[in-house]
Amino acid sequence: MAFRRSIYKSRAQLELMREPGLITAAALAAVRDAVRPGITTGELDAIADRVVADRGAESNFKLVRGYRHTTCISVNDQVVHGIPGSRVLQAGDIVSIDAGAQFKGWNGDSAITVVVPGSDDAGLTSARQALSDVTEGSMWAGAAAMATAKHLGDISAAIEDHILGAGPSALGVPYGILRDYVGHGIGRKMHEAPSLFNYRTPDRGAEVRPGLVLAIEPMVTAGSDQTFVEDDDWTVTTTDGSDGAHWEHSVALHDGGIWVLTAPDGGAAGLAPFGVTPVPLG
Ligand code: MG
Ligand code: MG
Repeated sequence: MAFRRSIYKSRAQLELMREPGLITAAALAAVRDAVRPGITTGELDAIADRVVADRGAESNFKLVRGYRHTTCISVNDQVVHGIPGSRVLQAGDIVSIDAGAQFKGWNGDSAITVVVPGSDDAGLTSARQALSDVTEGSMWAGAAAMATAKHLGDISAAIEDHILGAGPSALGVPYGILRDYVGHGIGRKMHEAPSLFNYRTPDRGAEVRPGLVLAIEPMVTAGSDQTFVEDDDWTVTTTDGSDGAHWEHSVALHDGGIWVLTAPDGGAAGLAPFGVTPVPLG
């Protein structure tokens, strides 16, 4: 068994995670600005790749065995792990973009969901935006809970409560929470212990204390939580064809409070509705 690193990092290590977080944020901001009908997911990936390279970082997705892209881009009934390529985005598509950067040996990981503008189907657009909003809100609820949580399970409960508390989706059923894919620790590797569930489990989980850095990433559907992996061996798609959404931030807990490493404002805007003010590192 390999040497097992502590899940709690020093303040100096947390500070080293700021730059890869900000590079990840810049890559996603550039992609968000480029999303429009007619662009391909491969073109969006190239935009993220350029930002990461221009900032002197590496795509940590390319460090995952067998993966050759800087982003995962998942459209409509695809929830996560979609492979960018020749797919052309249409007005009204719901698109999740997941990206990460490694810089000086430390990692950032973040995801956004965008509804492609320009659709004349207002009902579809608003249903998809609602799905994205619920998912994003649950990520912020989880991040806010991290400020006062005693155990990981407290964060999981906050995420679950936010999603189920939103009421039914446009399909008239509760939003579905993926159970086979979860959040994670992050640091020298993009994926580290511990796992962070997006729903309650019988185990209260590891202690939440300064030095913990979590990639909080709820994956939510407008219907059933059942998914399958497509023939490309990567893309995770809903079995019932309902839409999926995915939001993610890398969040650090330090002596003074929490700081969202993959948000340029440290998460101030997203955390405000929850009464939590992020505290800068260093
Ligand atoms: Mg990610
Ligand atoms: Mg992640």
